[in-house]
Amino acid sequence: MKLYNTLTRQLDEVVPLNPPTVAVYTCGPTVYDYLHIGNWFNYVRMDTLIRALKISGLEPNWVMNITDVGHLVSDADDGEDKLEKGARREGKTAWEVAEFYTADFLKCMDLLNITMPTQITKATEHIEEQIALIKTLEEKGYTYVIDDGVYYDTSKFEGYASFARLDLDEQQAGARVSFNDQKRTISDFALWKFSPAGQQRDMEWDSPWGKGFPGWHIECSAMSMKYLGSTLDIHTGGIDHIPIHHTNEIAQSEAATGQRFANLWLHSNHVTVNGEKISKSLGNGIRLQQIMEKGFSVDTVRLNVLESHYRSQSKFSWESLEAAQNRLRDLEAWADLRWQSDADNGDSLRQDITAALLHDLNTPEALAILSQATVTAPSADTLAFLDEVFGLHLSTRSDITDAQKQLIAQRQAARNSQDWAASDTTRGQLAEQGIAVRDTPQGPIWSRI
Ligand SMILES: [Zn+2]
Repeated sequence: MKLYNTLTRQLDEVVPLNPPTVAVYTCGPTVYDYLHIGNWFNYVRMDTLIRALKISGLEPNWVMNITDVGHLVSDADDGEDKLEKGARREGKTAWEVAEFYTADFLKCMDLLNITMPTQITKATEHIEEQIALIKTLEEKGYTYVIDDGVYYDTSKFEGYASFARLDLDEQQAGARVSFNDQKRTISDFALWKFSPAGQQRDMEWDSPWGKGFPGWHIECSAMSMKYLGSTLDIHTGGIDHIPIHHTNEIAQSEAATGQRFANLWLHSNHVTVNGEKISKSLGNGIRLQQIMEKGFSVDTVRLNVLESHYRSQSKFSWESLEAAQNRLRDLEAWADLRWQSDADNGDSLRQDITAALLHDLNTPEALAILSQATVTAPSADTLAFLDEVFGLHLSTRSDITDAQKQLIAQRQAARNSQDWAASDTTRGQLAEQGIAVRDTPQGPIWSRI
C-alpha cells in the first residue's frame, strides 16, 4: 500500500515495523465545543485509512487522543485554555465541558460508522507520562523555564524546520511584538504552563516545576509512544497541524528517544464551506446534527466525504450533499437488485477498488469504478466487501416481504390481462408501503422510494 508521506513529500510504501500490526496514531479533537463538518471529513478519511490498511492485510493498532486540557486559543501558546473558555461560556467546570463534548464526539463517531480506535486516550489521564517526558527533555538540556512555564528550546533540535520546510529566520523577523518576550526563539513552545498566580484553574496538577498544566503538544508525544512505541508506523492529522503541532511533536519525541518518531505522516486537507474557510466568525461550522435535521442520512455524509480525495481541498455545500444523496439512492437501489436477479461475483470490481484505495486512498477513483459496475446485480459478498471499505450499509438491506412480492405478482397478472384498473390499485398499495415498480424486458424490478 502506498501513501503520500509528508515527511518525504512522495508516495511511500507502508512498511510496518512489526507486521502484520501497523501502529497508527491520529490527533483527535479538542473537546470544548461540537465538531463541525470539516472535522468530520478528517475523521471519515482516517477511518478510510484504517479500512484500507485492513484490506491490504494489515492489522491496525489505532490510537487516538482526546485533548481535554492545555490547547490554548492560539496554537502559539498564547491566550486562554480552550477548555476553560468553554467552561466560562457554558457556566460549567472544564471537567464537565470535556465530558460532555467527548461523549458527543464518540456518539457521532458511532453514528458515522467510523471504526472505533483500539485506544482512545485522554490528556488528563496521562499527566504523569507527560511530566516524565518533560523531565527527560530537561535532563537532555532541551528545556528552559520562564515566568509562565517550561519551554522547549527549538534551537537545540537540529532539523526543527525541516518537516514543515519552515523559514525560521523569516518567522523571527516577521514576529509581531510577542505576547511572551521571554521566549528565546519565536518557535519555542510550552511543555508545561504554570497556573496563573492567584487564580484557581479547574484543571491543574503539581509538577517538579510548579502547579500547572501540560502544553498541548506534549500529550501526543507522551501517549503515542506509551501505547505504540518510540517509532510509529503512521501518524495522521489535519494539514494545519504540520507547521506547529506535528513539528513540535517530532522535536519533543526525537530529542527524548534519539529515534525517528514516525515513518509516515499522512495529512488530510482543509474543507471549505460554500467556498470559504470554516471559522467561528463566519458561523459556517456546520454540525452533524444540523445536517441530520435537514433530513440527510449519515451514509450520505460519508459518501460525500469519499467523493473527494483526502489531499485535495474539498468543498462542502448543501448542493454537493444533495448530489451525494442521489448517488447513494442509486447505490441502494443497485444493492437491492441482489434479491431480484442473478448476481455477478464482482471479483474484478473488488480488485479494482482495492487497487484504487491502496494507491494513496483514491476514494474518488474507487467510487467511479463502483459506478461503472452497477449495470449487473451484486452478490452478497460484493456488498459485504463494499461495506468493509466504504461503510455505507449496502449489505444489510433486506428483501421485501412475501406479501409485497405477491402484490407485484398480482400487478403483473393484471397487466397481462390488460386489467389496468387492478394494476393501478396494486401499484398504489405498493407505493403506500414505500415500494416502486419499474417494468423491464426481464420483468418488474422493485426499488424503495
Ligand atoms: Zn497531536
